[in-house]
Amino acid sequence: MKKKITVLKGDGIGPEIVDEALKVLDKIGGKYGHTFEKVFVDMGGCSIDKYGVPITDEGLEKCKNCDSVLLGAVGGPKWDTGVDPSKRPEKALLKVRSELGLFANLRPTKMFNQLKGASPLKETGIKDGLDLMIVRELTGGIYFGEHKTFEVDGETAASDLMYYTEHEIERIGRVAFETARKRGKKVHSVDKANVLDSSKLWRKVMHRLAEEYSDVEYSDILVDNTAMQLIRNPGQFDVIVTENMFGDILSDEASMLTGSIGMMPSASLSSGTLGMYEPIHGSAPDIAGQNIANPLGTILSAAMMLRYSFDMIEEADAIEKAVDEVLTEGYRTVDIAGKDEGITKVSCSEMGDLVCSKI
Ligand code: NAD
Repeated sequence: MKKKITVLKGDGIGPEIVDEALKVLDKIGGKYGHTFEKVFVDMGGCSIDKYGVPITDEGLEKCKNCDSVLLGAVGGPKWDTGVDPSKRPEKALLKVRSELGLFANLRPTKMFNQLKGASPLKETGIKDGLDLMIVRELTGGIYFGEHKTFEVDGETAASDLMYYTEHEIERIGRVAFETARKRGKKVHSVDKANVLDSSKLWRKVMHRLAEEYSDVEYSDILVDNTAMQLIRNPGQFDVIVTENMFGDILSDEASMLTGSIGMMPSASLSSGTLGMYEPIHGSAPDIAGQNIANPLGTILSAAMMLRYSFDMIEEADAIEKAVDEVLTEGYRTVDIAGKDEGITKVSCSEMGDLVCSKI
């Protein structure tokens, strides 16, 4: 199979970690007879420096006209001040997400047994393990509703509108139920239906879908309770589906439970096969250029690309298994090295080479 991938290395550690993921993709291509053509586009601070904008129209077109997009991370202190807010690095991210219609964000949150010691929950809270998928609505809700600041009774007030239509809720709900069918067949739908009208509508649509997907076990759960249950017993969850802002907060909470931000991949999907795949962490400017970043989140994002955009299941499994083997043999980048015995510290590029050697 031949696939065209638009590659956005971005800023900070972006180029280092993406290079390792590309190495792994080439290894997979060689083994399974696929060709991955790469089209490189500048996005974020590097694009601001070259073109004055975080992504050019031409770059955006290249993201639209490919089979999938692989992203490192964007941003850094260099562009935090002195850059017009409408041209900041993150603006490019929002633009790509909305122009490509990436309405579903999938974040698998998995505890690697080999890294259990890194979890802030230690043994008690993770007795049932931790392997859940957060399905977050990405292009609606309060982040995209009307924002305004205005004067009222002699003082300043501000409001942000949380707005959802039935079809927006239904399409993300379907992603969640379909995902659950391929995993543990369990969906928790998170809302705040005791207070918010948008949540009441959310719940109504989810209940309709739950009847249709009767093979999937379904539960409603309030967002505040979810925040507590994630700490108390995250093992009870399989798929969590929620609106944009709740998902933003809960997915960060969940990823911290694994204790290793550098390990976590993500996928942002459209209604077709085009998706954007990226690790959940940022550009880590504090360690950029030192060849010490953990590339596994990006490598596992590439595996998600194979699974969700290219339907290359065996190939995705091969990458995930290779990562598992490398960890089992005790190889660690510094962020996950801990103090365990029998650990070999490796650099970013050595970690990429090790994963390739297991494929
Ligand atoms: P960060 O995720 O970049 O870093 C937080 C901490 O985790 C740092 O100590 C960093 O060294 C460490 N870390 C992150 N990824 C790592 C990896 N792969 N290996 C080893 N250690 C890793 O978050 P931040 O410092 O808040 O943000 C830095 C910049 O990244 C900011 O400009 C922010 O806006 C941007 N950002 C971008 C994205 C994105 O591109 N999707 C997401 C979040 C933050």
